[in-house]
Amino acid sequence: MKRTEQIIAQTERVTARNYAPLPVVLTRAEGVFAWDVEGRRYLDCISAYSSLNQGHRHPRILQALISQAGRLTLTSRAVHNDRLGPFLEKLCNAAEMDMALPMNTGAEAVETAIKVARKWGYRVKGVPQDEAEIIVCRNNFHGRTTTIVGFSSEPQYREDFGPFTPGFVTIDYGDAAALERAIGPRTVAFLVEPIQAEAGIIVPPAGYLSAARALCREHRVLLMLDEIQTGLGRTGRLFDYQHEPDAKPDVLILGKALGGGVYPVSAVLASAEVLGLLRPGDHGSTFGGNPLAAAVGEAALEVIIESRLPARAAELGSYLLEKLKTLKSPNVVSIRGRGLLVGIEIAREAGTARHFSEKLLERGVLCKDTHEQVIRLAPPLIVQKDQLDWLVDQLRFALTP
Ligand SMILES: *Cc1c(COP(=O)(O)O)cnc(C)c1O
Repeated sequence: MKRTEQIIAQTERVTARNYAPLPVVLTRAEGVFAWDVEGRRYLDCISAYSSLNQGHRHPRILQALISQAGRLTLTSRAVHNDRLGPFLEKLCNAAEMDMALPMNTGAEAVETAIKVARKWGYRVKGVPQDEAEIIVCRNNFHGRTTTIVGFSSEPQYREDFGPFTPGFVTIDYGDAAALERAIGPRTVAFLVEPIQAEAGIIVPPAGYLSAARALCREHRVLLMLDEIQTGLGRTGRLFDYQHEPDAKPDVLILGKALGGGVYPVSAVLASAEVLGLLRPGDHGSTFGGNPLAAAVGEAALEVIIESRLPARAAELGSYLLEKLKTLKSPNVVSIRGRGLLVGIEIAREAGTARHFSEKLLERGVLCKDTHEQVIRLAPPLIVQKDQLDWLVDQLRFALTP
């Protein structure tokens, strides 16, 4: 039996099957490439669901991790540490926000945003206690906690996991008129992804975020953007909302690439009017804001900004989309995306996206299906043009009948 099969068998014996991984066992990675235990090399177009914008094991981020590990790693917020302030100051400056609240995973940051929005609703907007409503979109993905899956429209995310937290109203994505109709006196926030990535790279109509911004301002509703996947350069700007005029949110939720591919780091950013409402004891996390996370997060952000990764993603993303449009395969229904977040929708007759992901795996490309029919391509933003040319060649081979 090959090592790959042995390791997969051993892993599956003892691991809950809440994922269906591709049949590959990685053991090493650097930059845009990963190697499996058989010594085969892959171009990583999964990037841990867009957490590896800076590439695998970026030397500067690794150095920050290692040198911080040699000094101080975990304190809890029972005391101060000398890394959190510098990290959050840089993050707030980059996002033009007053304050940030550090957490670890994306779902925790979304939960934090929900709590803060409700508190703002009661304390500032004057919504009666326990009656706050948050508007969300059909086909959203905001994480896997019980509160969050409770407002998912995906049956599998919900089935067998209820009862759920009340207080959420669901509307169609990309429809500003639906948002206007849904807003009522108890609405405290609109929580939305600038692009619905997990739903299959759904890009809303141009002007959607600007319209949502204006409606939220008019009706005193917090606009909360979940940029956990789209943010930090992925779609060609530091934050995806910057593609539209006047779309800056009241609450910005970040995660994934904020950890630089080495450590879980997430954060909620907002004005002092919103985050300033929290009092000691209202919310917390033992690991959130720890010095190792802060050192890594600061380096992760610096690499994105100083290496101009958003501009790279914009340029290379347009290049990739143009080249993909030359594929002209009858198996492909549509190709869409922004920056280096691209979805290829496979025709149902041709098979599942999973089937094509496995074909691409054999050709040295790591990519993953999302929502049955869509292959997501999200390479590290440090990818080179010739590597994208090679990727398109592999796609042409795998997708041509
Ligand atoms: C990945 C993701 C999350 C959840 O992040 P976790 O770190 O997996 O909890 C939330 N929202 C969006 C848009 C995501 O892509």
